[in-house]
Amino acid sequence: PYKGPLADDVFARRKKFLGPSLFHFYQKPLNIVEGKMQYLFDENGRRYLDAFAGIVTISCGHCHPEVLNAIMEQSKLLQHTTTIYLHHAIADFAETLASKMPGNLKVVYFVNSGSEANDLAMLMARLYTGNIGMISLRNAYHGGSSSTIGLTAMNTWKYPIPEGEVHHVMNPDPYRGIFGSDASSYARELQDHIDYGTSGKVAGFIAETIQGAGGAVELAPGYLKLAYDIIHKAGGVCIADEVQCGFARTGSHFWGFESQGVIPDIVTMAKGIGNGLPLGAVVTTPEIASVMAQKLQFNTFGGNPVCSAGGLAVLRVLDKEKRQSHCAEVGSHLIQRLRSLMHVHDIIGDVRGRGLMVGIEFVTDRKEKTPAKAETTTMHERFREIGILVGKGGMHGNVFRIKPPLCFTKNDADFVVDALDYAISKL
Ligand code: PMP
Repeated sequence: PYKGPLADDVFARRKKFLGPSLFHFYQKPLNIVEGKMQYLFDENGRRYLDAFAGIVTISCGHCHPEVLNAIMEQSKLLQHTTTIYLHHAIADFAETLASKMPGNLKVVYFVNSGSEANDLAMLMARLYTGNIGMISLRNAYHGGSSSTIGLTAMNTWKYPIPEGEVHHVMNPDPYRGIFGSDASSYARELQDHIDYGTSGKVAGFIAETIQGAGGAVELAPGYLKLAYDIIHKAGGVCIADEVQCGFARTGSHFWGFESQGVIPDIVTMAKGIGNGLPLGAVVTTPEIASVMAQKLQFNTFGGNPVCSAGGLAVLRVLDKEKRQSHCAEVGSHLIQRLRSLMHVHDIIGDVRGRGLMVGIEFVTDRKEKTPAKAETTTMHERFREIGILVGKGGMHGNVFRIKPPLCFTKNDADFVVDALDYAISKL
């Protein structure tokens, strides 16, 4: 049994010694002390089904034995030297990651987080094109560093600082967007924005194919193809942010962008790539990467032996355990069961997503789509009592985000749906 500090004590010291903007879930914050595959355990040994995976970060499973073993074995041998010396782990990992990419996406940069990956991608876009303006979608989350905050497009996360030239275009959101699922209307708005709101030239466009923090919003089908064409014509490059929707999670494809039939110029990743390790990456073409050669590009911890060994093990495990087809199967079962709940409960306004990246949006009025904020919070607490941890998201915090470790089973999915049925009936 756990013998460490308890919740009240940890919370008090967190308040005293950590920044005031840290947020937490639940009225009485949860002290999680152990994880095993799709389960988390609190200080009392109570087990929770983890349907949020540390904000979509645990891919293989908490403390997956094979990933853990790779990290431990490498740690015993050598933890760190930096890339000024050779080490096989970074080359092994880069080669395997590149083999997962389509087209000419073959040059890998390792960093330590999603924000860093998007920072670097933005730098590349600006250097390669000679343009400055970046375009992202409203409702996007691309990071919290002082440059990626500009790409992020939800006021909850944006500090009022100068952001450089960043434009936020209309989000092709099939549920709340004014053009519904009509990708070409959103694309026309993007073109309009470039024509009227920029010099006509842009450096780049960045998008998540399924918006994570925004509440599992899947972009209208066909949008990225149209948008990429428009951006290329305006002299820009296209960046896919795969921080949440990559690594087999969507089930239908290994990468989120593949569901829209596009090949980006730059792909950024983090979270699931490391199953909990601080790791991120940018993958691009040799041509774009060549602009970086004009200076030294360096990242002390990027691709260190421990993270590289762990990241390589993640890719191996996802393959070996056939997680992509598993996500497709479990995800479609989950989505189909959630959709049938919509016939019983009016509060469910929308069920969306792909594979194990699912959003359930709650509304008090289906026609007006009024966010059911208070009800969502009540159900979120209720889920914790039942023993399931889900995420919350969207601008109004009225979306449940079901994005579990990829070892999540059909039974787990059934448990979540039954719990939702119960939680709604108790409102
Ligand atoms: N992109 C997306 C899509 C994300 O969800 C996040 C993190 N929530 C980031 C980028 C930033 O990643 P990090 O917190 O590792 O900097």
